[in-house]
Amino acid sequence: MATKKHVELSEILNHLGEERSQYFNAVSPPIIQTSNFAFRDTASFRGAFLDERAHHLYSRGNNPTTEILRKKIAALEKTEDALVFGSGAAAMACGVIANVRSGDHIICVQNPYSWTYKLVSQLLPRFDVAHTFVAGDSVEEIERTLTSKTRFLILESPNSITFKLQDLSACAELCKRHQVISLIDNSYASPLFQNPADFGIDIVMHTCSKYLNGHSDVVAGVLCGKKTMMDKIFLSEFMTLGSVLAPHDAALIIRGLRTLEIRMQRMSDSALRVAKFLQGHPKVEQVIHPFLKSFAQYQLARTQMRGCGGLFSFLVKANNKDQVNAMVDRLKTFLLAVSWGGHESLVLPFSIFHDIPGQPDPVYPFNLVRIYVGLEDPQYLIADLAQALEIL
Ligand SMILES: *Cc1c(COP(=O)(O)O)cnc(C)c1O
Repeated sequence: MATKKHVELSEILNHLGEERSQYFNAVSPPIIQTSNFAFRDTASFRGAFLDERAHHLYSRGNNPTTEILRKKIAALEKTEDALVFGSGAAAMACGVIANVRSGDHIICVQNPYSWTYKLVSQLLPRFDVAHTFVAGDSVEEIERTLTSKTRFLILESPNSITFKLQDLSACAELCKRHQVISLIDNSYASPLFQNPADFGIDIVMHTCSKYLNGHSDVVAGVLCGKKTMMDKIFLSEFMTLGSVLAPHDAALIIRGLRTLEIRMQRMSDSALRVAKFLQGHPKVEQVIHPFLKSFAQYQLARTQMRGCGGLFSFLVKANNKDQVNAMVDRLKTFLLAVSWGGHESLVLPFSIFHDIPGQPDPVYPFNLVRIYVGLEDPQYLIADLAQALEIL
């Protein structure tokens, strides 16, 4: 028998937000490809100006197709509302900028997503917003970093390269005590496997370019939270920075969401099988996956996450980056590419970021390899990894 949770999830993915009687009972929602909307009379025109958030006036603000997507993602994250953006990076930037001003201090976890790092370490300082990076695995450390000017905390749990976690309920509790607004990049876990709002985190951010769309053909992002917070962001950063998601892209993500549950289930099962294969391989030094017992924060991962996706890293036994590159070049089924969350399996070797003239080496070792396990048969992927590792 279906549990209540499953019924609700099926309802969200298949029906929520879709007013079919308004568009010929079409099963699939129409792509309302329009920039503006016309009004019957001056009174209704004036009404839309007075409350743009609640009306269809211009598609930089609301659009009926993107609205369906907003409603579904807000429901998936169990928050009152959501705003969708033209990229995850835009969603992150708007979520932070809306809540800080010159003179404030923010705390951010170490080694966040690269463009979050750039936002915090380079863009915000130009506007006199100071920051401190924290390891994030101890709330006491975060507490010690607080100053009288701290207004904002950026979490990323798990991180998408190191997979480090933060204790979400302890962080949320700390923020409440000190009137600090918390935001988490929840992209790795997806709304299916972790709902940070349940723990008291204020703003939940996702890139929709990864799991939510799931087919590697859209770049988009989302912020989820209380209606008051989303209203505030809508009327300031959302409208002024104008990083709009096109209605067609919203429709593609709505389509991608139909299979979110089965994709996530398949990828997490497959990734764990591939991770266990690698863990037992003599040429592999270490596998970093939150749901392996060897993972440093395994207990915390089990407490606050219902599952893991398809992404994890491993360290190969290699003496230099050429050996790592040779192994990766032998892979036939994994595509050599950034990103993740689509149908296709991917590999990202950190060796390619080493020895770049004029640049410091990255914090990640040359033998760190991140793989993303897509929807293919895990046996097919394991066979490929096995033949590639033979070169070492
Ligand atoms: C890809 C990614 C982002 C940025 O999202 P875009 O849609 O590419 O702008 C942010 N955080 C994480 C963890 C990501 O993987």
